[in-house]
Amino acid sequence: MSLSPCDIEFDRRHIWHPYTSMTKPLPCYPITAASGVELQLADGRQLVDGMSSWWAAIHGYNHPQLNQAATQQLQKMSHVMFGGITHPAAIALCRKLLAMTPDALQCVFLADSGSVAVEVALKMALQYWQARGERRQRILTLRQGYHGDTFGAMSVCDPDNSMHSLYQGYLAPHLFATAPQCRFDAPWDEQDIAPFNTLLEQHAGEIAAVILEPIVQGAGGMRIYHPNYVKRVRELCDQHQILLIADEIATGFGRTGKLFACEHADVVPDILCLGKALTGGYMTLSATLTTRHVAETISEGAAGCFMHGPTFMGNPLACAVACASLTLLEDNLWQQQVRDIQNQLKQQLLPLTALPKVADVRVLGAIGVVEMRQPVDVAALQRGFVERGVWIRPFGKLIYLMPPYIITPEQLSRLTAAIAAAVA
Ligand SMILES: *Cc1c(COP(=O)(O)O)cnc(C)c1O
Repeated sequence: MSLSPCDIEFDRRHIWHPYTSMTKPLPCYPITAASGVELQLADGRQLVDGMSSWWAAIHGYNHPQLNQAATQQLQKMSHVMFGGITHPAAIALCRKLLAMTPDALQCVFLADSGSVAVEVALKMALQYWQARGERRQRILTLRQGYHGDTFGAMSVCDPDNSMHSLYQGYLAPHLFATAPQCRFDAPWDEQDIAPFNTLLEQHAGEIAAVILEPIVQGAGGMRIYHPNYVKRVRELCDQHQILLIADEIATGFGRTGKLFACEHADVVPDILCLGKALTGGYMTLSATLTTRHVAETISEGAAGCFMHGPTFMGNPLACAVACASLTLLEDNLWQQQVRDIQNQLKQQLLPLTALPKVADVRVLGAIGVVEMRQPVDVAALQRGFVERGVWIRPFGKLIYLMPPYIITPEQLSRLTAAIAAAVA
């Protein structure tokens, strides 16, 4: 499929893009194909992908096994309702999800997107306490967090750098603890958990759940924090019998060097949200996992069931591809790949810390972040990146990489060199 200037103009005039103005949009680059770690521009140029299409395309694009899973499922049925019906793709996927997550997580709710997975998790927590006859409706979370764009999810995003002021009065008022300050590999400071502990003790009886992104706060600032923080949160939740929701929509499936980021802290949440890389970046699907205790308590409550059921719940095409993606992860190649990426990112990005315009550099697993002192000019930077043959999309003060795990050292060097040139 080719694109004319007329098509690009149509896009500019009529199609919304993520967080993009309809009157002064940043330029959009036309991509007509993608394969392995490369995106192909409409004019034929190839770009090395540093974004995995927002954490998702961990195995790269146009992967033969994922393609095969999709086409095989397509021959059978692309969709069927999940109410009163089940199918092999959903069963196979949920078996795999339960096998790769902690034993305590036993029940899977499949939904359409990460934001919906978070809505589902919050609703589960509320229905859980309702079933137990306690009025607990507040959620405790961390500043600098990001959990999605729907209303429930927005209500637990960072209140300052997100959209709270726009929707004031419409969002549920939740509780926000100071974001963790202790870095991942710095010595742990027990004071780091104090603000969280204070809020928890002040409001213990009203809090239904704690939600956080374990170890890596993603879209809220790409912050990488100490595992002991997550450990302490788990202990405090246990002391006060509060549910812990781990939002691993970004961190899940190997990105941080562990299959799930909670493993860095050896913590098991009561509710786990998964999305993004779940289908290897092929299509939208999310999963919210919980314990049998939570699932049964909800089911024994007044409603008699969990009150949620999306039209496309358990979509067979998405489940089949997700299942194939998890099969690829079971080969465990990702561990060495992510370790190699981490080593190379450390080698090639950490020296940038010395540059005057750079405020900080941090690396964990297949995530590399360069934080600038000032917000960057996204359009200008992107033009430069595309000219250098790489796809990197900065936001705010952050220029960051989270490439597909299959990236070669040469391809990764092109990404880091492009960043080094841009920040110099
Ligand atoms: C992206 C993201 C979400 C939202 O997922 P969508 O699929 O975009 O709705 C929620 N939580 C975290 C941590 C994310 O990174």
